[in-house]
Order: sequence, then C-alpha cells, then structure tokens
Amino acid sequence: MDLFEYQARELFAGHGVPVLDSAVVADPAAARAAAERLGGRVVVKAQVKTGGRGKAGGVRLASDPTDAEAKARAILGMDIKGHTVGTVMLTETADIQDEFYVAYLLDRAERTFLAMASAEGGMDIEEVAATRPGALARIPVDADEGVTEEKAREIAAAGGLPDEAVPVLVALWEVFTEEDALLVEVNPLVRTEDGRILALDGKVSLDANARFRHPAHAAYETPGEGDPLEAAARAKGLNYVKLDGSVGVIGNGAGLVMSTLDVVAHHGGAPANFLDIGGGASAQVMADGLGVILSDPDVTSVLVNVFGGITACDAVADGIVRALGLVDLTKPLVVRLDGNNAERGRAILDAAAPSLGPLVQQLDTMDGAAARAAAPARS
Ligand code: GDP
Ligand code: MN
Repeated sequence: MDLFEYQARELFAGHGVPVLDSAVVADPAAARAAAERLGGRVVVKAQVKTGGRGKAGGVRLASDPTDAEAKARAILGMDIKGHTVGTVMLTETADIQDEFYVAYLLDRAERTFLAMASAEGGMDIEEVAATRPGALARIPVDADEGVTEEKAREIAAAGGLPDEAVPVLVALWEVFTEEDALLVEVNPLVRTEDGRILALDGKVSLDANARFRHPAHAAYETPGEGDPLEAAARAKGLNYVKLDGSVGVIGNGAGLVMSTLDVVAHHGGAPANFLDIGGGASAQVMADGLGVILSDPDVTSVLVNVFGGITACDAVADGIVRALGLVDLTKPLVVRLDGNNAERGRAILDAAAPSLGPLVQQLDTMDGAAARAAAPARS
C-alpha cells in the first residue's frame, strides 16, 4: 500500500525523523489560512501517489499566504501522470545546501533488505541510477542486525552523506521495520544552510500482509483504491491475490494453491488469481470464493483443487454443491478432490452432476483437472 507524502511524513515524525511543520488542505482558501499559520512563506506540494511532481509543476514556492492560495489553486485539480491532485500539502521552507537520496527496500531477488544512498539527491535519481550507477551506493542490510549506528555510518560513507545524517538513517530504519514497510525513500534528504538534516520528501509503501499488526494503518487505506475484488475477498476473510491470466484457481492451503498455479501454467493456462480458502472449505467459504472469482471478467474457467484433511472431501463436496446453489455459474468449473474421504466426496459430486449441469466437471488428478481447466484458455 503506497502512502501519500503527508502520510509518510506522519510516520517519519512518529519515529524521530526530522520533518518540517506542514498542513494538508483541499481548497485554496484553506491553503491561505494554513500558510498564515506556517509563517507565510511556504512550499505548496501536490499530494499524488506518483513521483516527478516537481518536474510536473506540482511543487511550488509561495512567498506569502496570498501567493500560497494562488499556487494551491493552480496545483489543485492538476493532472500528474494520470493522477488528479485532490489535496496539497503546505510546508515551511528550507534553505537547502545539499540534497541527498536515501532508501530502504526489500530486495526480493537478493533475498535481503537493501539500503541505497547517494549524494546526488533531488529530482533525478532515476537518471543517476541509469547513467552513473556508481553514484548510487547499494548496501545490503542484514534483517537481524538492521541499521545500527555503525551500519548507518557505513551507509553514509558509501553514499557520500554527512555524519549528521547517521541518526536520521537509524530513525528511518525504525520506520521501515516498525511500520512493516516494503519501501522507505527520502528524496531529497537535505542539509540546510544552518546545518540541519531534514526529510523534505517521503515515499513509503507498507506491507499489506502486516496490516493486522497495525490498526492505525487502516486510516491510510483509500476506499476504491486497489483491486475491488481483492477488497471484496479481504472483507470475507479470504486470501486472494489477483493475477493477470484467465484460469480462476481455488485451493486449500497456500502450498497446494501455489503448486496448482504451476500445474495450470504447465498446461498452457495462465492463472487469473491465487485464492486459498484455508482448512475449513465450508459451503459459505466456497461460495464466497467462487463469487469473487466468477465476478472477475478475466476468468474463463475455474479450477477447484482441494486436498481433504481435517475437513474431509465429503464435507468439501457438500460445500461445493451448496455453493453452486448460491452462485450463478456461467463458466466451466473443474473440480479435483483428493485426500481424506476422497471417494465419498467424488460420489457426492457425481450424484449431483445432473443438477449441477455440464459446466461442472470432475477429474481425479490434479494434472488432469489443471489440463482441463487450462483448455479454454488455450483455445
Ligand atoms: P518530487 O519531485 O515529487 O520528488 O517532489 P519533492 O518533494 O522531492 O520536491 C522536488 C524538489 O523541490 C526538491 O528536490 C527540492 O529541490 C524542491 N523543494 C521541495 N521542498 C523545498 C523547500 O522547502 N525549499 C526549497 N528551497 N526547495 C524545496
Ligand atoms: Mn522527491
């Protein structure tokens, strides 16, 4: 979940990362009032979840409250890379001497955390990374050790940041770990003419999988943002991830679902999602899962792959039959049951076949079922 700059700043402030006083407003008159409170001279900044605001004219210096009102009026409603500006943040100004870049992120490819730091912060870090990679230091951070003062010194030295930045690097690591972020980026981190280190911009992406640990983060969730089916699935307590293929996949247990995705792919299909209904697999859970998957317009067939365990296959089969009574099936649905009480479960589906109709098919093996479900995707 990506945050707005002003939200990132809130987290920064809560962990002792120095930021300037600011206010967020949605209309020009409020911008004037906020500028008055902040001392008159302010920077007016578009709040959009995309970079490059400065270059797009979304970051402007205002000399007094009247000017702040005018700049806010100009920025509000602007389009920045497809994002309409709904709010602006006004902040005190800083007299910048140097602009640095610093970021912590999860480096999935290297299976580690990574610190990036550069003395060439500002608006063009992507260009620095592309044309002069040597100017952007990349330092792995051990998950257990984290960024201690000693580690922060190493990062600062590698990136060409001043010693005064060390405590800020430690505080930013605290933001990264304690808030369960996947990315914390500050560009620019500045040194002012009077020697202060300040985070002038902030980009934070939080790990949605950790939301249960952070009730306070619920305030950062914007209704209507993100995939609507993921939100619907979450509301029903389902583990659902939207993918970009066409074969809907329902299974019980993350390991089985992941294997199912592989087997579907092996047969030339592309999974439309990952949906783990967990151990229960009751009729209601199955109906909820099917409801989510069938309302995805990209889905052309559905594969239900269940391995009966504590919940035996006959109970799962009952669940499937009742679930199909609750949803309007319009696409082929292939079921494979195995494990505890598989024979009884299969018999239940066979017995129900006349009423379930020809769209529902049952196969005994994962391989066969995946091949069948992938067939519409191939043709
Ligand atoms: P971005 O373009 O979306 O990354 O927006 P930033 O918040 O990073 O702002 C872009 C640039 O505006 C920064 O690199 C600074 O050079 C400048 N800027 C932002 N805030 C201030 C400020 O308070 N004072 C001054 N002088 N410049 C600022
Ligand atoms: Mn920036």
